[in-house]
Amino acid sequence: MKRILLIVCDGLGDRPVDSFGGKTPLQAANKHNFDWLAENGICGLMDPIAPGVRPGSDTAHLAIFGYDPHECYTGRGPFEAIGAGVKLEPGDVAFRCNFATVDADMKIIDRRAGRIASGTEEITSTLDGTEIGGAEIVLKPGTAHRAALVLRGKGLSWKVSDADPHETGKKVLDVLPYEEDAKRTAEIVNEFVRLSHEKLADHPINATREKEDKLPANIILPRGGGIWVPLRSFEEKYGLKAAAISGVTLVRGICTSVGMEMLDVEGATGGLDTDMMAKADAAMKALESKDFVYMNIKAPDICGHDGLAEEKVKVIQRLDEMLGGVKRQLDDETILAVTADHSTPTEVGDHSGDPVPLMIFGPGIRTDQVAQFDEISVARGGLGHPRGSDLMNMLLNLAGRAERFGA
Ligand code: ZN
Ligand code: ZN
Repeated sequence: MKRILLIVCDGLGDRPVDSFGGKTPLQAANKHNFDWLAENGICGLMDPIAPGVRPGSDTAHLAIFGYDPHECYTGRGPFEAIGAGVKLEPGDVAFRCNFATVDADMKIIDRRAGRIASGTEEITSTLDGTEIGGAEIVLKPGTAHRAALVLRGKGLSWKVSDADPHETGKKVLDVLPYEEDAKRTAEIVNEFVRLSHEKLADHPINATREKEDKLPANIILPRGGGIWVPLRSFEEKYGLKAAAISGVTLVRGICTSVGMEMLDVEGATGGLDTDMMAKADAAMKALESKDFVYMNIKAPDICGHDGLAEEKVKVIQRLDEMLGGVKRQLDDETILAVTADHSTPTEVGDHSGDPVPLMIFGPGIRTDQVAQFDEISVARGGLGHPRGSDLMNMLLNLAGRAERFGA
């Protein structure tokens, strides 16, 4: 039985870029390690969820890990909360929140409270552990201006709208129930928002911020509510002891949810400045004791959202160097897969429903005619046009770990 290393380059897939003469960033990049692996491995063009479906990073990861997002996903709240270190219980309803700044009319001055970066622990502790309408409030700080809100108790529903209007100058929204059973939850969230404004108005952290000419974090705005549905672990489902490396809270939440051990790597930031080589080295080291190691690199997605095609090419070239490092350390006991969770075309500035390139490399694996790793070339590959939900089956088969179906 072989071990598996899965590298997901977040948002790597793209579309033709005018300034590159119609080439995609992958086609325009100088990337001999990607191409060597494509030439000596087997490739395909993968729909992370289904043809044309525009995936979120969360739903795409669930699909790629073999969990049907239509069954286990109601919102990103629970995964953000788990990623932020909250231990959820079945029936918990979780939201992602922003610390924000509002004026006296409850109009948004800044959705990120001046990108507040410190003191959020003290702010959340004023509300953490309190009770509203019979529900326990769990409130934990996330990175920067983000926080996770969990409502714990009986009879809660996730079918409520957002308090966050998502726009400066707009008023904080009343949270509305989407169905009769969600009325009480909506009331609890509205009371939470009101209480957060009341308690934060005179908070010492904000007094200090105002002295320093910084915007106060005078309200907390929940959105993206979802109910926590426990998932079978990777070990139970596939018999794989798994570890994961990612600097992104949401992805960490998904990995933790399926029982992967999160590895912290110094220099792994989830940003453009992330130390890719340190991540790769940590992944190779983890393979000594794990059957499956997952690694996410967020940088290409960031370039896609910001419309930075040139920067995306540079990121691809850094990824290529990293793959060179991985290649040098690969042994005959490891299957390597490289793909993306979705396309984030720079000319779209958001996730699109275009399929993503997929490459699998390892000992004894068939090859194909593909010698370049890009969206166009891999379409002729031997893996054809699978969906994300097929990936784990393909990897288990090639690793000699698949159970026979039938006699
Ligand atoms: Zn993503
Ligand atoms: Zn994205």
